[in-house]
Amino acid sequence: MDRSLAELEAIVRKRICNLCTERTVAGGCGLEEPTSCALFRLFPQVAQAIQSVSSDDIHQYIEAIRTNVCSVCHEQQRDGSCETRQMVQCALDAYLLLVVDAIEEATGKTFNKSNLGGLGAGSLTGLGPQMQL
Ligand code: SF4
Ligand code: SF4
Repeated sequence: MDRSLAELEAIVRKRICNLCTERTVAGGCGLEEPTSCALFRLFPQVAQAIQSVSSDDIHQYIEAIRTNVCSVCHEQQRDGSCETRQMVQCALDAYLLLVVDAIEEATGKTFNKSNLGGLGAGSLTGLGPQMQL
């Protein structure tokens, strides 16, 4: 199913912002600079990275995000680390499972979440919200 980037972004905004811990009571984004949210600041790269993967293994999506999104994000340090990610303040990383699920569903694919049992706390630092799946 073909979806425009704008449609995909609207779907992901609806799904993720609604449960994001940064969301304000009024329904807006509580970040000091809402445009700094990496999920939407780099949304074209996020959508492209996720659509380039066809797998039920979340690690392949993480790898695609690291390669195609984190690599061009100004938050990432030269050694590949990211303080924002470590502090669970990157919505893209914290809600990656939900982002993958939303984009795959919107484009007519399915992401089989039953394979997530072996996922340890590590790259996906925000396992809490993701495990609401
Ligand atoms: S931080 Fe990002 S995901 Fe969270 S409410 Fe703001 S724009 Fe939405
Ligand atoms: S994890 Fe860090 S480097 Fe990657 S998109 Fe988020 S803020 Fe940027």
